[in-house]
Amino acid sequence: MTNITQGPKVYPVDFEDFLDFVAKERETKEFLDRLRELAKKRGEFLYFAGGVVRDYLLSKKGKLNPQSSKDFDIVLEGNLEEFLQELNEDLNKEILFKSQFLTYKVRFFLDGEPLEVDFITARREVYEEIAQLPKVFPSNFMDDLLRRDFTINALAIGLSLPYEGLLLDPLDGLKDLEASLVRPLHLNSFVEDPTRIFRGIRYKVRLGFDFSEEFYQALEACYQKEALKKLSSARLANELRLYLFKEGEEILLELLETTYQLGIFEKAGLEVARENFPLLCEVLKEVKEEFSPKEREKVYFLGMVESLSGLERLGFSEVEITRIENLLNNFRGFYHKINQLSLKEKLEWFDKVRREYLCAFAVIFPELKEEIFRYLKVYSKVRPELNGEDLKKLGFRSGKEIGEILKILRLKRLEGKVKTKEDEIKFLKKFLVKNE
Ligand code: ATP
Ligand code: MG
Repeated sequence: MTNITQGPKVYPVDFEDFLDFVAKERETKEFLDRLRELAKKRGEFLYFAGGVVRDYLLSKKGKLNPQSSKDFDIVLEGNLEEFLQELNEDLNKEILFKSQFLTYKVRFFLDGEPLEVDFITARREVYEEIAQLPKVFPSNFMDDLLRRDFTINALAIGLSLPYEGLLLDPLDGLKDLEASLVRPLHLNSFVEDPTRIFRGIRYKVRLGFDFSEEFYQALEACYQKEALKKLSSARLANELRLYLFKEGEEILLELLETTYQLGIFEKAGLEVARENFPLLCEVLKEVKEEFSPKEREKVYFLGMVESLSGLERLGFSEVEITRIENLLNNFRGFYHKINQLSLKEKLEWFDKVRREYLCAFAVIFPELKEEIFRYLKVYSKVRPELNGEDLKKLGFRSGKEIGEILKILRLKRLEGKVKTKEDEIKFLKKFLVKNE
């Protein structure tokens, strides 16, 4: 690994070009100028680090996947609280979040347009316990780059003196960018913070990189210390959530496969149904437009695990696990006799199950995928044109009766026996005569 006893390697960059990459709009550019002026006035070093620097350098090489995210982190070697206070005097802003790690999420209103920015205090981190969050101390930019996950993310571009317009590269991140390598900063990196493994997988797959030799060595050290087992459910689930929501779904399967092949699920104590992965990814793509993120997340986790104990590892509540267990048991009975059931009986069954669970069942019971999707995409959306009020006018009284009639009308529509509102009325008249 790199020897960092000397200062960082420093290279000039085309600063205007970089600022154009970071800030596409005029307002954002002016905003950055404000920050830089303030940093200069206060004599503090302000810089960009991590993703935005990495992505800028990649874009210059034409190697950037346009999917890459555009969020940027601004780091201050100095007193961030005071800095933000001083900034307040002429900018309209709202602090959304302040973390124990000396970071602030701030929403600015630039000409009325909101812009969210993450501000970070240059910091040093001390990991006292395996896989637990670190203690954090304000420090200088070198310590701040040294606490990071991978060499390609330990690059900075200065916005103010003493490194204004310069690229800082203490760990040869530039070389690894050239060589397309994901290299941890040291071999204890994943013992300190196993979430970095998932981050590394995202970079590898997203950018089409390879893992360096040290990645595997750091992974081995992590396995020996059983650090992944010690990772909390919330943090584990969050990393897997980022696969789904931060990366494009076209790479989701590769992310899951890579994670599986490295043995990470197993070492994290999460038994997964690998054979489900391809169908799971397909199904998640199919419902992307119709399902909320929360619903998709349920499908994702339910479809991923081998058994219900996996849900526990992912932090599902006992109540929800029991609910799913009952549902699954019922569903198994239903599944065995599905071919003998009428459309009405099937609908009755499907109507009772929340659609995110139903969608997960399409993954767990692949033979039913077609049937379930027909329900989700077609059947569940078919409604009679007559509504409860119309039925009251036609003389139906009790709520229960109206509910039943609406169900019958929907079924008739699905069977193609009624097509218009007039058909529905005609049908009801006949129905009434028959039942008198
Ligand atoms: P992305 O394009 O996915 O946003 P990013 O590099 O910007 O990539 P972020 O999650 O936004 O990633 O984090 C910003 C930076 O913070 C990273 O580049 C990395 O330097 C640092 N970082 C984030 N998480 C960790 C971690 N768990 N350990 C060490 N450094 C981290
Ligand atoms: Mg980022």
